[in-house]
Amino acid sequence: MANASPVRVRFCPSPTGNPHVGLVRTALFNWAFARHTQGTMVFRIEDTDAARDSEESYNQLLDSMRWLGLDWDEGPEIGGPHAPYRQSQRMDLYKDVAQKLLDAGHAYKCYCSTEELDARREAARAAGKPSGYDGKCRALTADEITAYETEGREPIVRFRMPDEPITFTDLVRGELTFTPENVPDYGILRANGAPLYTLVNPVDDALMEITHVLRGEDLLSSTPRQVALYKALIDLGIAKSIPLFGHLPYVMGEGNKKLSKRDPQASLNLYRERGFLPEGLLNYLSLLGWSFSADQDVFSIDEMVAAFDIADVNANPARFDLKKAEAINADHIRRLDPKAFAEACRPWLQAPHANWDPADFDEAAWQAIAPHAQTRLTVLSDITANVDFLFRKEPVEDEASWTKAMKGDPVALLTTAREKLSGADWSSADALKEAVLAAGESHGLKLGKAQAPVRVAVTGRTVGLPLFESLEILGKERTLARIDAALGKLGA
Ligand code: GLU
Ligand code: ZN
Repeated sequence: MANASPVRVRFCPSPTGNPHVGLVRTALFNWAFARHTQGTMVFRIEDTDAARDSEESYNQLLDSMRWLGLDWDEGPEIGGPHAPYRQSQRMDLYKDVAQKLLDAGHAYKCYCSTEELDARREAARAAGKPSGYDGKCRALTADEITAYETEGREPIVRFRMPDEPITFTDLVRGELTFTPENVPDYGILRANGAPLYTLVNPVDDALMEITHVLRGEDLLSSTPRQVALYKALIDLGIAKSIPLFGHLPYVMGEGNKKLSKRDPQASLNLYRERGFLPEGLLNYLSLLGWSFSADQDVFSIDEMVAAFDIADVNANPARFDLKKAEAINADHIRRLDPKAFAEACRPWLQAPHANWDPADFDEAAWQAIAPHAQTRLTVLSDITANVDFLFRKEPVEDEASWTKAMKGDPVALLTTAREKLSGADWSSADALKEAVLAAGESHGLKLGKAQAPVRVAVTGRTVGLPLFESLEILGKERTLARIDAALGKLGA
């Protein structure tokens, strides 16, 4: 149960676009840490950017978390003591905090126009000086303010950074120090009064009493600003203490470039559609910056939770390796209970994946073939092509497979194979193998060469599940009819 420990972590995505694997890794590490410490997992939606946020993306986030099995103790749809958990419903709260920061002098109004800011930034750059905000409006006089207001300028609100360095101990990277030149005063409210991420994120972390902020390394540069803001919130009695921060390493994709959320390989939906198991995907993603043990890469989610500690996260960039992700997923497919496997494949045996008439689906044949598939699939979506020969009236027509398999004298081979198969014991895959083996021998062919034309005649494909088990399940009558059809096609 939650709340057995003081640990409170949060997963706080913005609902823009499709969820990507980097985001899932962040959710997973927070969740595993919460579960390991018997703490509380807070799920918060950072939807303060009406131009980019969408309801569709919000629904996808919730659906993805549920599919992955990453549950939350406080958040959307379940509520909690700090509700609401959608920032779009908390706007008054942020404006109130911004006003308090202004009143206490922790923030000030900045009247600089974008053009003026740009011009000064250019000049600073040209002079080789730090190019962040130069503090021009830090100490305006009453007259200067009146003059700007008379001009009709609309100020933004800026947070006043302290003039001394900011130091904090990152849970992954150790002690880090940022000097004031590198962290200029920053905007917290737009001119129209809309609060920015820079304000709402730490304010909510404070109000929601978050103890550990675990997030991607791309957010490291915002941490000194947030630490300073936190100090101001403590000063105002809004925050109790500064949370601990842990920045998870970058995930590198192809060509050792940072995996971008726009990279197709980063899309969570892609893995879902290909038939990754949630536990397979989570197992793989947990290895991006963490390891279970030196000699074990495959483990259950419960084993991960039992072993997970943020102190063991590695600061080095992690490489996203699709082949390894697939291999781990394949292992998780093998680990499923056979019944669970047969059910997990179900979506790929139905529209829109099934390439057969749904009325021809045969449950008994499916149950018979499923165990042969379970030991061979890498992703569940491959099931459709592996079993379609059972449910289609005719095997798929694939010219490339046909040309590849029908070499030498396929008519002679298929004719003999048909003869031997028709006299074989159809209750035994071994007997069917003997029949094809014998047919091959009589034409001087090894089993591999002899079975290729039979496989293509019967399944339409050159690769698939173990052939003789497949024939047994398809049955004598249909197998022989397909060999006859192939012989016909070969002009025999
Ligand atoms: N909404 C922010 C994002 O998705 C959250 C960052 C954070 O964890 O502080 O980037
Ligand atoms: Zn200014």
